Amino acid sequence: MAAVTFLVTASFGSAAALGGISDAGEVGSPAERVITTGEGLLFPIDPSPMCEVFDNFGGHSKARGSGGHQGLDIGATEGQEVYAVADGVLEIQHTDLDSAPGLGWRLWVDDPVDGGPVQYRYYHLASFADGLEVGSLVTKGQVIGYVGDTGNATPGGHHLHFEVRPGEKQRYGSPEPVDPVPLLDIPTTCNLY
Ligand SMILES: [Zn+2]
Repeated sequence: MAAVTFLVTASFGSAAALGGISDAGEVGSPAERVITTGEGLLFPIDPSPMCEVFDNFGGHSKARGSGGHQGLDIGATEGQEVYAVADGVLEIQHTDLDSAPGLGWRLWVDDPVDGGPVQYRYYHLASFADGLEVGSLVTKGQVIGYVGDTGNATPGGHHLHFEVRPGEKQRYGSPEPVDPVPLLDIPTTCNLY
C-alpha cells in the first residue's frame, strides 16, 4: 500500500473534550500524518471506537516536567483492547494504583524481525487480560489489557501511555526511549495531534 499523507482536520478542541490527557500539555495543533503504510509496528490498541494519537514524545510530563514525556499517549474509551505489539515476555507488571503507571506492563521483545531487543511500556490500564502474569509469553496482537485511567492519568481521561525502548537489557535501568510515532502503523481512523 502506498504511503498516504494528509492533514488531520479535527480540531484540538475535540481532544480537549476527552477529559484531559495527563501529559499532552505541549500539544496544541494537529500534526501532519505521514504513516499509513500498512507497515511498521502494530498499533498497540484497538482503535475503535476512539483513537486520538497525541504526538507528544518529549513533551510535558506530569511526573518529569517539561520535555520529560517518554512515550506517546493514545486517547480512547475505557476498556478498548491493548495489544502486545510483538512476540515477547511480560517482564514487569505495575500494580500500584498510586504509581505514575497505575496498572501497566513492560514487554520485552528479544528477537523482533528487524532490529535488536526492545522494551515496550504500557501505562494507565483499567485492567489486565485474564491469565497473564509476570513471565507470560505473549504473541503479536494478543490482548494484554484494557485502556483505563489508572496511575497519574487524569480521572476520566482514558488513554494508553506507550513507550518504545530499543537496546540491550541493562543490569540497572532501561534503554532510552525513542519516539514511537514514526515506528507505528497508525490506523487511518485515528486522529493524530
Ligand atoms: Zn503519557
